[in-house]
Amino acid sequence: QRAEFSKIKDVEAVTRDGHRITMLMNAGLEFDIEIMNETGAEGIGLFRTEFQFMVSDDLPRLKRQTELYERIMDGAGDRPVTFRTLDLGGDKILPYMEMEREENPALGWRAIRMGLDRPALLRMQLRALITAARGRELRIMFPMVASIDEFRQAREMVDVECAWAKRRGRPLPALLRVGAMIECPSLLFHLDALLPLVDFASVGTNDLMQYLFAADRTNPKMSDRYDPLSPPFLTALSMIQKAARDSGTPVSVCGEIAGRPLEAFVLIALGFDRLSMPPAGLGQVKRMILSCDREAANKAINKLMSSSNGSLRNEVLSLARKLDL
Ligand code: PEP
Ligand code: MG
Repeated sequence: QRAEFSKIKDVEAVTRDGHRITMLMNAGLEFDIEIMNETGAEGIGLFRTEFQFMVSDDLPRLKRQTELYERIMDGAGDRPVTFRTLDLGGDKILPYMEMEREENPALGWRAIRMGLDRPALLRMQLRALITAARGRELRIMFPMVASIDEFRQAREMVDVECAWAKRRGRPLPALLRVGAMIECPSLLFHLDALLPLVDFASVGTNDLMQYLFAADRTNPKMSDRYDPLSPPFLTALSMIQKAARDSGTPVSVCGEIAGRPLEAFVLIALGFDRLSMPPAGLGQVKRMILSCDREAANKAINKLMSSSNGSLRNEVLSLARKLDL
């Protein structure tokens, strides 16, 4: 399989009926640049910046952060990298940082909530990103946005940092794109307000599943209990895709399901054309895309969604077999 995947690594992912799919990977460490080169990923759709903090013995400050981001952008060259700001808290606890124990960490003081309440850390990170990006495109994405105001405030912090750099005569990014993750269900009902404000959005299906079904993603009894290939979740994804298309906002999917061929097939059927996935998924998902007909898949999945109440997995599986995916 490895040999087969390496043969198609530089082949563009185009469906049989001519839809081009952008294949990105999820990353978080410097080592991932090598993997990007090996797998032929077209860029990094999700760079989890908290990894540097989690593998470190103490808090990485401005210089170390800037150096990492520079190396990642250097290594990626022309390929885009979307840096997600710190997604700490919840189950991601740093031993060297004082953090309160919480009854419900997944619902707690985490990610952008922490970044907005105690802005020193987020501001330092934004400064590192802006410094590292000088003269090139910078893509910043905020995690766990639950309200429009949170995105607005976070985006304002980016503008403040850019103004700071400008006042000091520092070179700015050539292009700045600021986006939000869609992983809190509240945003599903506020897409019309959110989408015009963001330069792009990315659906975090790991957390969106967790919060839609109220099922702890870290609890093994719970993590496979509900199926993303079921009408409620697919309806949510379809709502996002349609709203993004109508507002002309680029949207990707960056949860683990983007790297599973069957799930990725359904995402493409729903109209998503940017997928960011764990590197191990790139070969198998590309192989599926090359033999898939998007229009036919769209019709078949719509039909399944309207006629089924539970998991569509078995039906999607037999459909994929029939189509020889
Ligand atoms: C997600 O929630 O789907 C996601 C991509 O981010 P993480 O897994 O880091 O929470
Ligand atoms: Mg998440």
